[in-house]
Amino acid sequence: MTALTSSRRLVVKIGSSILVDEAKGQIRRDWLEALSDDVVRLHKKGCEVVLVSSGAIRLGRAHLGLAAGPLRLEESQAAAATGQIRLAHAYQAALARHGITVAQVLLTLDDSEARRRYLNARQTMATLLGLGAVPVINENDTVATDEIRFGDNDRLGARVAEMISADTLVLLSDVDGLYTGDPRSDAGARHIPEIREITPEIEAMAGAAASALSNGGMVTKLTAGRIAMAAGCRMAIADGRTVGALGALIDGKARCSWFLPDASPLSARKKWIRGSLKSAGVLVVDDGAVRALARGKSLLPAGVTGIDGEFRRGDVVDVKDRTGRTLARGLVAYAAEDARRIAGRKSAEIEKLLGFRGRDEMVHRDDLVVE
Ligand code: GLU
Repeated sequence: MTALTSSRRLVVKIGSSILVDEAKGQIRRDWLEALSDDVVRLHKKGCEVVLVSSGAIRLGRAHLGLAAGPLRLEESQAAAATGQIRLAHAYQAALARHGITVAQVLLTLDDSEARRRYLNARQTMATLLGLGAVPVINENDTVATDEIRFGDNDRLGARVAEMISADTLVLLSDVDGLYTGDPRSDAGARHIPEIREITPEIEAMAGAAASALSNGGMVTKLTAGRIAMAAGCRMAIADGRTVGALGALIDGKARCSWFLPDASPLSARKKWIRGSLKSAGVLVVDDGAVRALARGKSLLPAGVTGIDGEFRRGDVVDVKDRTGRTLARGLVAYAAEDARRIAGRKSAEIEKLLGFRGRDEMVHRDDLVVE
């Protein structure tokens, strides 16, 4: 079995240079149709697929007839606004042939780094995947300013993989992996099939192998690798240029470089919750909830008897029993004010109490680390 066949949640990053025909400034339809066939194959194997696609600026620039050479920021933003519609439409048309719905998601850096929005984006994406849709993601280039820009979709792809706890990220690029040097100028450059740790030595290799075509080159791919590995997601760098490139990878027929983490996405997420964040409040729970948590269940509003602190949705809170012993820590799905209103009540009452239909859980078990 190749690594791709065992994936359950896959993020594929598609670079501009492989999707858009440079000379014509148009989408390579045959390439995109083959990709759609491969998405169908993955769906049939029970694998959810998320596409992170570049190409908006390149398409828009051709459509607007902007002169060759570097664009000013506002020009690339204008190009992105024009190109993104065409990009999304092309994916929609290609996947509609198979009866698959495409959902456009435009993100900025803030969406993955500010926790409240992070929880929303994660939920939305999970809902779309649950409905069988394929999210097609790009950076929200039109509004992103320099400070909040990802700037490269390799990093965006890794952030998305982290956000949705994907098990695999594939960067389809113009090179089939990492080499010890630049394979175009150095005949002795060796391909590296597997990387388990991004060492300074690996970084030095990436510096030497910068790619002329892809936006970020190898350095941004390593940054993506670092984010993905820390999130427990394995990552492949593969050559995506040929028609059917993803299919070849699924069949294990294409050479690539694998970055392999030592943790699973869930355990990495839990480590992140446990380690890196300060708690913003406390939920006190009853004995029934104590038993439920010990069995690995989510924390429901019904089991919460008291709330301390002024936390916001997505903040980290400690969960304590009546004696004050800390049992768990997790990302809370409600702000303190709302949590106070629904504490002790059944999940079915949430809508009536708050005026909106929030999540059934106060803290979902995936967002919860039991001590
Ligand atoms: N978001 C940019 C676009 O769609 C691409 C950025 C990248 O390729 O890294 O044109």
